Amino acid sequence: MSFDTLGLAEPLLRALHEQGYTTPTPIQLQAIPAVLNGGDLLAGAQTGTGKTAGFTLPMLQRLSSTPAVRDAKGRVPVRALILTPTRELAAQVEESVRTYGKYLSLTSMVIFGGVGMNPQIAQLRKGVDILVATPGRLLDLHQQRAVDLSQVEIFVLDEADRMLDMGFVHDIKKVLAVLPPKKQSLLFSATFSDDIKALADRLLNQPALIEV
Ligand code: AMP
Repeated sequence: MSFDTLGLAEPLLRALHEQGYTTPTPIQLQAIPAVLNGGDLLAGAQTGTGKTAGFTLPMLQRLSSTPAVRDAKGRVPVRALILTPTRELAAQVEESVRTYGKYLSLTSMVIFGGVGMNPQIAQLRKGVDILVATPGRLLDLHQQRAVDLSQVEIFVLDEADRMLDMGFVHDIKKVLAVLPPKKQSLLFSATFSDDIKALADRLLNQPALIEV
């Protein structure tokens, strides 16, 4: 099985080729077509399974195939939001977005706590297509009206079980409350406790189910 048969566009295949990836991992085989379809997804996958490319590749393709709605000042609103539990993971995911999206003209940035807020505010002002964030800093910036999440088309909750373990449940609910109701949502988790199932019920609409 190769990436060519999964419905990915040429700029993404070129980036994958450059990375030396030849064969999709099991999660990629299932997640890529499901996400390209436009539906919600509930995926059980550990780190190391290739899950990041599993959601990043189809997300990039979907965003690149429809134009962004610009605001009155010509800026792009946030079109995709990826929430991760830690700074390290946020930085890694954003690096993947850049790597796989290098032949597309979408912009991305990462925001997390523990560093100055002003450079993040300045960068957000310029407009960004894909935002990768940890929940606390995202909410701080939202409260300051530095980020507009009302136009999010794709929302990814990565490592949802770790987020709940780290006590982010209230922050996640606050983020959900400011996202538009009509969006594609993807939830990745290594384990499925009752709390994760409740979160999935709240967030996802008739999701495709994948477990690897
Ligand atoms: P992840 O589970 O998303 O953290 O990915 C684990 C590692 O596998 C990362 O270093 C990726 O660069 C790598 N990787 C992801 N997909 C593939 C693939 N199809 N072929 C080879 N390596 C991959």
